[in-house]
Amino acid sequence: MIPPGETIGILGGGQLGRMLAMAAAQLGYRCHIYAPEADSVAAEVSAQFTCAGWDNAAAMARFAADCAVVTYEFENVPVGPLAALGETPLLAHPRALQTAQDRLSEKRFVEGLGGRPAPFASVDMPIDLAKAVARIGAPGILKTRRDGYDGKGQWRISAGTDLAALDLPNVPLIYEGFVTFDAEFSVILCRGADGDIRYWDSAENVHVGGILALSTVPASTAIGAQVAEARALSARVAEALDYVGVLTLEFFATADGPVFNEMAPRVHNSGHWTIEGALTSQFENHVRAICGLPLGDTALAARGVEMKNLIGDDIHDWARILADPCNHLHLYGKAAARPGRKMGHVTRLTL
Ligand code: AMP
Repeated sequence: MIPPGETIGILGGGQLGRMLAMAAAQLGYRCHIYAPEADSVAAEVSAQFTCAGWDNAAAMARFAADCAVVTYEFENVPVGPLAALGETPLLAHPRALQTAQDRLSEKRFVEGLGGRPAPFASVDMPIDLAKAVARIGAPGILKTRRDGYDGKGQWRISAGTDLAALDLPNVPLIYEGFVTFDAEFSVILCRGADGDIRYWDSAENVHVGGILALSTVPASTAIGAQVAEARALSARVAEALDYVGVLTLEFFATADGPVFNEMAPRVHNSGHWTIEGALTSQFENHVRAICGLPLGDTALAARGVEMKNLIGDDIHDWARILADPCNHLHLYGKAAARPGRKMGHVTRLTL
């Protein structure tokens, strides 16, 4: 067990790290952020900051020497350089990073555990695309296998798309059949060091332009009927990875049951509602899990919860949002409000 007072290292310097560090501080831990970008919103609320590249082994080793345990808030941290962490434990295990960083390995892994993703085909070079579309059909979505997030690195393909005219990067891609879904939802669980698994209620998630816009709990009945199956799969994923901490799996609720979309080996945007809406937040339970503490209760703290993302210029609405005393406003402290950038979120409880 890592007692309060010790230092937790966090790889990645964004808003997820910021909210983890705030939860860690509540439990009396210090946080040390490691990130390549100088303007880290996680570092602003943490005791220590190492600003260095992922492949800077000397900086990574110095960082590890200051930390009792290391975790990550960004799933695209390159795995190779993490060897420089030496004896300092890294949780969740980097095999979760390795699996989730590549959409192809992620889908194969989850399929091997009985999950059902959309039909998919690997497109190693742009010229393979026509074959993939012929096999799976259109509409579909072409995605980069690595480094895509918030709808970046994705191309919608319809029956009329001129495949040869697409301006595609020369990186491995994956083509997925388009899923006709009733709704989208996520399973967020926390697995303790002793194997204890707790689930938060599944939120119904609405994406706009590939970016999460809204999470609502309780979810609609179409989702409610599919949560048990999705949770059972998520538990198999967590156990197969010997996972410790918060793990998220995203699903489409379809007429044929839950279709797996993707997983994130970390706290997740669709769980931000848990800060006020659950007895223990995803951030606090992640800290408890990686420090070997007992997990807190994940039950709902209200009849219902709604979490709305503030994206780009939405942040300029902060004064209007605060004028309603029922709104819980979270701003991430980012300097520039670029289009598509997550700047904050607002949570409302139905009591
Ligand atoms: P992703 O980055 O893969 O999670 O995609 C972002 C969002 O795009 C998802 O949450 C869905 O709203 C939509 N999307 C992605 N893949 C598919 C698919 N195969 N079929 C239908 N919608 C999709």
